Amino acid sequence: MANKRDYYEVLGVSKNVTDEELKKAYRRLAKKYHPDANPDNRKEAEEKFKEVSEAYEVLSDPQKRKMYDQFGHDGPQGFGGGAGGPGGGYYSYTTSGFDGFGDFGDLGDIFSSFFGGGAGFGSRASSRQKASGPRKGRDLKYNLDITFEQSYLGVKKEITIVRNEECPTCHGSKAKPGTKTTTCQACHGTGTIKQTVSTILGQMQTTKTCPECNGEGTKIEEKCSDCKGKGTIRKSVKIQVSVPAGIDHGQTIVLKGEGESGIKGGPRGDLYIVVSVRNHSLFKRQGNNILCDIPITFTQATLGANLEIPMVDGSKEIYKIPEGTQVGARFVIRGKGFKSVNSNYQGDYIFTVNVQIPKKLTSEQRELLTKLAKTMNEQPPVKKRGIFG
Ligand SMILES: [Zn+2]
Ligand SMILES: [Zn+2]
Repeated sequence: MANKRDYYEVLGVSKNVTDEELKKAYRRLAKKYHPDANPDNRKEAEEKFKEVSEAYEVLSDPQKRKMYDQFGHDGPQGFGGGAGGPGGGYYSYTTSGFDGFGDFGDLGDIFSSFFGGGAGFGSRASSRQKASGPRKGRDLKYNLDITFEQSYLGVKKEITIVRNEECPTCHGSKAKPGTKTTTCQACHGTGTIKQTVSTILGQMQTTKTCPECNGEGTKIEEKCSDCKGKGTIRKSVKIQVSVPAGIDHGQTIVLKGEGESGIKGGPRGDLYIVVSVRNHSLFKRQGNNILCDIPITFTQATLGANLEIPMVDGSKEIYKIPEGTQVGARFVIRGKGFKSVNSNYQGDYIFTVNVQIPKKLTSEQRELLTKLAKTMNEQPPVKKRGIFG
């Protein structure tokens, strides 16, 4: 473990990274290194994925991160017990086993939300169930589509999700009420069986899921008929989502505790709402600024004009452009852009004028323009540039 890479380096972030940036970096890398996404070099990707997840697990927890900043990888074992699992400290994360995605806990869940693809969320979940103690319920993901205007003003939406809830009949025990549940004799309730195998490197101990109880640690006399022994039922629920003004495409709203119910009394999972903002025919977003092209006539450009500028909220602003406005000139209306979700900052509204040259003229207009042309040099003077400029 001495040559472990620095966690910040692993995630490609600076020491004073914010939680949001950290999450972003982790998601990007986890996606990149997911073994399923790297069928050609699965082994290597798995290693990378493991490294990235470990770094994230430590840095995303304020207490573990503080310890890591102070002591690095060689921190005192057992320091700050209670932060981690058995063994204490963040050490337990560096030494925990890696059987597929089994030991990732919450991280694995966040992850399944990126790869589960809609309804089949975390289909791995049942295969990685362990007879360990209480576990957090699975996190869920929901894609929320909103309009450009809604992202500007904020919006309240009601969404419907289908999630696993604890079966009200057996309260998650999976057993028919009144029947007996006994400890599995094969694994003595641990859910796993240790095996010693001989390899060329000597005796090695491996752990596998108990086949007798499928890792449950218990044996059920008779299954609960309402949930068919699953301990959970599928339920459709309506949830109110408050989308803050200024939210950007791809940003996520986390609703704590709105995921699936916990297992064996564990906390509920979370609901990740990934926001998609539809394109607008008139406006574009750049950071917190709004960009817009405003068509003007060439007489407005030449003489100056009071323009009516359409705002995203449907109102209009009068903006005076000066005479002699050039093609492509940009004007800024301060503080009329997007609100920042995290601060009081508000971006600007920036418009670029687009001078329209008329394709058809009335005979009167043609006459006037011809008169005008005669008063001017037909060809505009070419500015001297370069070494003579
Ligand atoms: Zn039940
Ligand atoms: Zn067993």
